[in-house]
Amino acid sequence: MTHVVRRPAGPFVIADGAGELHQVPLGEDNLGWLVVCRETGEAAAVDGPEAGPYLALCERLGVRLTTIWNTHTHGDHIGCNRDLARRGRLSSLRVFAPAGAALATPGCTDPVDEGDRATVGRLSAEVWRTDGHLDGHVSFVVPGAVFCGDTMFTAGCGYLFDGPPAAMHQSLRRLASLPDATLVCCAHEYTWSNLRFAWVVDAANPALAERIRRSRAVLAEGGSCVPSTMAEERATNPFLRGMSPSVRAGFQAHTVRALGEPDVVAFTELRALKDGATWRSVSDAELPT
Ligand SMILES: [Zn+2]
Repeated sequence: MTHVVRRPAGPFVIADGAGELHQVPLGEDNLGWLVVCRETGEAAAVDGPEAGPYLALCERLGVRLTTIWNTHTHGDHIGCNRDLARRGRLSSLRVFAPAGAALATPGCTDPVDEGDRATVGRLSAEVWRTDGHLDGHVSFVVPGAVFCGDTMFTAGCGYLFDGPPAAMHQSLRRLASLPDATLVCCAHEYTWSNLRFAWVVDAANPALAERIRRSRAVLAEGGSCVPSTMAEERATNPFLRGMSPSVRAGFQAHTVRALGEPDVVAFTELRALKDGATWRSVSDAELPT
């Protein structure tokens, strides 16, 4: 199976220099994240369908996998727990996972919810409850980066399995309150399809045109457009821009009706439009080059 990302992004420095962050392509389009405490050499794997690439990377870096941070219980996120269990490696690990799904998470030792902290070595992450994709979904926030699972994606957001839209809207708004330079470490490389949709509703946004040009070049080389920064998401993610004149005009041009207000209604209608089929007729050739 060939991963869409052949050349992972990074590594990155996080937590004011105390941590190192590695992107780990997993499965077909999943992106795992290895968070390393520079002081102790301990490492946390954040989600993923498999464990092999994490173990290989730890060996190459000379660090110890001691921890898992799970955002939610979909199979392509807790698959790495199952894989480590098969290898006899899970029982020695600390596994931080959503409290509401602790029993559904193999090896969970530390059920966490809003306001708790997840650790690896001397590093510590705030746990935020980010419902909308799946009930109980959590995000891990460290200085300089957020691991937001399937809540916010680069230029998009997760599918609303549990919803309701208002819960996802609230989660996205809160994530978007993080500082500009925060790395958005989501769990899939879905950037291109998300940008195609963004262009349908926000073609008058010059920052989006620029992001599409840049992303096209990165992806053509087998690179990854993840992580983005929160500043980039605020400027170009259509699900954060439902009240912008540009998105409102784009939505109206595409659907021949006005986008609702306030922002939570606009979000709901934008998500519904993306879940439908009509926008898919827009081809790559119509996007900025
Ligand atoms: Zn999911």
